[in-house]
Amino acid sequence: MSNVNPFKQSGQWYRGNTHSHSTESDGRLPMADRFAAYHEAGYDFLVLTDHRKVNDVSAHSRDGFLAISGSEVHPSNPYGGDTYHIVAINLYERINCAELHPNAVIEEIKRQGGEAVLCHPYWCGHTLLDYLPLSGYFAVEVYNDTCMGIGKGFSEQAWDDLLDKAGRPVFGIASDDAHGTEHDCFHGWVMVRAPELTTDAIMTAFRTGAFYSTLGPEIIDLDVVDEGEEKRSVSVKCSPAQSIVFKAQRSRGKRVVAPEGEALTEETYELPSGIKYVRVEITDETGKKAWSNPVFF
Ligand SMILES: [Zn+2]
Ligand SMILES: [Zn+2]
Repeated sequence: MSNVNPFKQSGQWYRGNTHSHSTESDGRLPMADRFAAYHEAGYDFLVLTDHRKVNDVSAHSRDGFLAISGSEVHPSNPYGGDTYHIVAINLYERINCAELHPNAVIEEIKRQGGEAVLCHPYWCGHTLLDYLPLSGYFAVEVYNDTCMGIGKGFSEQAWDDLLDKAGRPVFGIASDDAHGTEHDCFHGWVMVRAPELTTDAIMTAFRTGAFYSTLGPEIIDLDVVDEGEEKRSVSVKCSPAQSIVFKAQRSRGKRVVAPEGEALTEETYELPSGIKYVRVEITDETGKKAWSNPVFF
């Protein structure tokens, strides 16, 4: 998997939520109402991911709004932890997880043209013990809004652990995991850079990392200079922020905080040697965050 810098790609930004439930599983809205609510809230696409089911969502795409078929699948965990929660984006046939190793489930997701997301690690109690044996997933949920019901929505450390140890690129996704109608709706989403609003274009953007995740703040631009180990930097421009953090593996990185009563709108990190990846976190004055995907070196 190669990743691109979405801020240097042609196309436009599409706002979407990759994780939602309807009355087809344990959600409180019928499918049609779930899609309508996201369309009305200004979203460009929604992935419906009912537990262990795949629904035909084709009737819910509209001019300027894309309904994407998906599922949340639950293969059992042979590595000691709780059952996996894996969101499949762009899935058409139900997968019988009970019989399959989690890696076989992920392979089947990809065979159908889909991609797999490891969901809400903090809420699941999942760590590297559960994730290192897995392969083939493209992203992990750095934020899951419904898990804020017990205060475990943020999984930033799980993401960094995977970026350091999984030996492959892993992207970060903020999602609602909408079950209800208020508390877990419209709070965490992805901004996807794509040439057009089609499932193929959105899936290509996901696979190449051409997106960022946010609870509100906007990332406006990301500049990467890579002229060898001695001259590397990552610069970001964003909506007014209280802090800008550049995170890399282990003890590496940089945090800048706005002076009292002021806001930051740009910052640069001159990389020391030995950096494997850098990702950027923006936090606004209300505590809402945005996350870039990692830049790999
Ligand atoms: Zn789940
Ligand atoms: Zn879910």
